Amino acid sequence: MSDGNVPRQADSGAIRIGTNALKRKSYNREGVFAMIDELFIRAFKAHQQQGGVFHRDSDRAHEVFQMSTISALSQGLYDGEITYAQLAQHGDFGLGTFNGLDGEMVAFDGKFYQIKSDGKVYPVDGSLKAPFAVVMFFDPTVKFSSDDETDFKAFQHAIDGAVPSKNLFYAVKCEGDFKLIKVRTVPRQKKPYPPEVEVAKTQVVSVCRNVRGTMVGFRFPDYTKGINVSGYHLHFLNQSFSAGGHVFDFVVSEVRIEIDVVSNLHMAVPESGEFLTADLSKDQTEAIRKVEKNKDS
Ligand SMILES: [Zn+2]
Repeated sequence: MSDGNVPRQADSGAIRIGTNALKRKSYNREGVFAMIDELFIRAFKAHQQQGGVFHRDSDRAHEVFQMSTISALSQGLYDGEITYAQLAQHGDFGLGTFNGLDGEMVAFDGKFYQIKSDGKVYPVDGSLKAPFAVVMFFDPTVKFSSDDETDFKAFQHAIDGAVPSKNLFYAVKCEGDFKLIKVRTVPRQKKPYPPEVEVAKTQVVSVCRNVRGTMVGFRFPDYTKGINVSGYHLHFLNQSFSAGGHVFDFVVSEVRIEIDVVSNLHMAVPESGEFLTADLSKDQTEAIRKVEKNKDS
């Protein structure tokens, strides 16, 4: 960090990174990545000094809140009890779905959106319910940007290489110019609900090209398999609020990435309905991988 080309920190951890910042071929532990590392280490230390819990005000704990489990969703438990009005008490940033698996939810900048299989985006009424959702009050401590073209693999690789621990939770917001982004939404299901692998056969996959937009999501540790999607889970909404969904792949440039390091997970499950009698002992790892990552093996 001794040469004069190192960008100076602008505000609260914000830093602008020069060329090739996120390209896989440029990945190393030197230069710009050392700077991302430093940002993470600083954020991590601040996090530890606060005892891991930032209570910004009396009722906003610095925690990830999740409703139900990804395994339960995978098995077809598509009706939850929690309303979006209740969910909003736990966060206004995150992702999820709706009762009956009626599309994809993405929330950021204090607003919730529903992306239905008709390809349209709707504001979320507080009375709608969520069988599965992950939300928090986003308070990013690591911010960086890059002009360069980055794909999903390089994006994951860059962040994975910089995080101080793979065993914490990371909330991610990424705004950029998407050369392409492959997203899916799912059509509303009727009872008896089929498992998600069956629903995936009728999912609507679209590729948006040359759109500016925002990806929102989380990186969950491997040890949370079955509880949540391990690794990255991102949802997307374009700038004109007309398209989006669950992210399978992308190529982005002019990107600004913000990350919140979190060590608290608050999980709630339904207190009535099918959840109480469902057999949730089965390993859903492969089914989840197929549905969430669009991978067969
Ligand atoms: Zn999703």
